Amino acid sequence: MLENKNNSKTNISELGEFGLIEHLTKNFTLKQKSSVKGIGDDAAVLESEEKQLVVTTDLLVEGVHFDLSYMPLKHLGYKAVVVNLSDVYAMNAEATQITVSIAVSNRFPVEALEELYEGISAAANYYNVDVVGGDTTSTTSGLIISITAIGRAKKDTIVYREGANDNDLLVVTGDIGAAYLGLQVLEREKKVFQVNPNSQPDLDAYTYLIERQLKPEARKDVSKLLSDLEVQPTSMIDISDGLSSEIIHLCKNSKVGCNLFEDKIPLDPQVVATCEEFNMDSTTIALSGGEDYELLFTVKQEDFPKIKANPNFSIIGHMTQESEGMHLITRANTKIPLIARGWNSLNEE
Ligand code: ADP
Ligand code: MG
Repeated sequence: MLENKNNSKTNISELGEFGLIEHLTKNFTLKQKSSVKGIGDDAAVLESEEKQLVVTTDLLVEGVHFDLSYMPLKHLGYKAVVVNLSDVYAMNAEATQITVSIAVSNRFPVEALEELYEGISAAANYYNVDVVGGDTTSTTSGLIISITAIGRAKKDTIVYREGANDNDLLVVTGDIGAAYLGLQVLEREKKVFQVNPNSQPDLDAYTYLIERQLKPEARKDVSKLLSDLEVQPTSMIDISDGLSSEIIHLCKNSKVGCNLFEDKIPLDPQVVATCEEFNMDSTTIALSGGEDYELLFTVKQEDFPKIKANPNFSIIGHMTQESEGMHLITRANTKIPLIARGWNSLNEE
């Protein structure tokens, strides 16, 4: 589980806390103009222009949020960054810096943490954010990672969860449900492997699903796509839980209702095929699966021509008056109430 490429194992204590920090962070360079001082002092220093800053934090706990038996550490590092940046992009903001805090037990050799940091570094490069600080401490057993992301946006283009109006169109980026199914496939393979360690899994039919679970990407592109189209969303949220729970967040925060159309929900062909194979309902998976890190937003009715033909966006419904409630309109044209059954660490217990 904690094997690394060259299979060497250096105990963390050989480096000591400061040596470890220095070792893991030595390759980080600052690229953002707003990063004045990064790692190496008591605090990082950022330059703030006349823009507004957004700050968001996520905490990931081994055994609750990730399972190292099928999540390579490099992917975990990458995903931990992506999950945070997705929240920044959901404010229609540009991500600029992150801090990374880890708590590790001595079960982890230095090489394992190197892999974790390779993933963090790859994501920081790809999304063009600077790692400007963090904290390092020990735990008695598992691994805990907390990342804080900082971004900036113009005051008049930041988008909140509140702001949707009656008649606004409900839009989602990309496709949904794949990450949850990827997890189901990995869980199934883990069980097969426990019974027969010599089994060679054939995962060809699920490559997209597994990639969406193990190497998700955040929608850094959406803010620019929308501004190029001259569309200013009225509300926005990222889909970390299922579609249904995020729609409910938008509705409650904006004090509106909504009609979501089942036949408009964008699904990848692998999602449809795998749902058939696993005897699962693809709409249920899309509504309750989670971890897709796509963006869900509302736009004014008049913006319809600007987004209708764009392959990045699917119009999946429209907002209504609050008193009308939140509903799914099924393919059979029946109206059923939307309920929040999004995955979260609490209701899994
Ligand atoms: P302090 O005692 O002031 O908390 P530390 O010795 O913990 O300082 O950290 C030294 C520097 O290294 C600081 O700039 C801190 O932000 C950074 N740092 C510590 N741990 C990490 C980490 N896991 N990842 C990135 N930067 C870190
Ligand atoms: Mg510290």
